[in-house]
Amino acid sequence: MTQDAIRIEGLRKTYRGAKGQPEKQALKGIDLSIPRGSVFGLLGPNGAGKSTIINILAGLVLKTSGKVTIWGFDQDENPRQSRASIGVMPQELNLDPFFTPRGALEVQAGLYGVRKSDRRSDEILAMIGLEDKAEAYARTLSGGMRRRLLLGKALVHHPNILVLDEPTAGVDIELRQMLWANIRKLNEQGMTIILTTHYLEEAEEMCDEIAIINEGEVVARDSTKNLLGRMDAKTMVVHPDTAVSTLPQGAGIEAELRGDGAVVLRYGSNATSAEQVLAAVRAAGITIRDVKTEEADLEDVFLSLTKAK
Ligand code: ADP
Ligand code: MG
Repeated sequence: MTQDAIRIEGLRKTYRGAKGQPEKQALKGIDLSIPRGSVFGLLGPNGAGKSTIINILAGLVLKTSGKVTIWGFDQDENPRQSRASIGVMPQELNLDPFFTPRGALEVQAGLYGVRKSDRRSDEILAMIGLEDKAEAYARTLSGGMRRRLLLGKALVHHPNILVLDEPTAGVDIELRQMLWANIRKLNEQGMTIILTTHYLEEAEEMCDEIAIINEGEVVARDSTKNLLGRMDAKTMVVHPDTAVSTLPQGAGIEAELRGDGAVVLRYGSNATSAEQVLAAVRAAGITIRDVKTEEADLEDVFLSLTKAK
């Protein structure tokens, strides 16, 4: 249990509605444990509750109920230690325009009580590629540079856990690659990484494990490999020359006779090749007049997992 980087139990958040607006139940009882050393993805559509979870972890939003343990420290019982264990790169670009990158890192380090001798602003500036902008005002920085500075700010107190809220939403491919490389390097150095994204591709590329969040609930949680495995469903439709008497059989193949005489075969493309399916069809004595395959679209499967119940 102490091996978890983060442990979330029965987490609920209800936002009070603004004047005349109803209240919003953003989290409906989230249970989630995130192992140390992993790159963990919180995946879900806009409005799912990802930022709410992150902001509660960061201490920026107060939970309505539930228990949050960060690096073994209960957030309510040990607020200081739990806060020191985590660094958060927020979704929004909230930088003071009159700070330079170096100034912003120093102020952040001060907020976290990092002693001058323990600060490593130069190292961080080099890592995020802002050495030559160290003394420029934040308002003169490009969007990409600001985002990199936010990453730098999350790192000043040497956190065990780095949380990135939509790190690459709306950024160009070059910056995305750079952020991904930085994140991988930090993980190799032992940092636990949690990132939220609504890009399937990003989760696939970066994460060891994924939880899919929808409407304030965890709808799936598995290793990326298993989750994508569930998404490799393919369908082959075979139109036979003559009426079918025996359905094809084979490991990992589900065959069904359709009303129009066609044979519908469902299989997972990771475990079973199209050739194996065709071989099973021939072995059943079926002569193929026509054949079609349909692929489950990743977006479709994602949508079916996150579909409102
Ligand atoms: P995500 O990050 O997955 O897009 P959020 O956590 O930002 O989702 O939002 C979850 C839900 O809570 C949304 O319906 C959003 O409109 C609502 N919400 C978020 N922040 C507030 C707030 N400060 N006040 C009221 N509702 C909010
Ligand atoms: Mg968000």
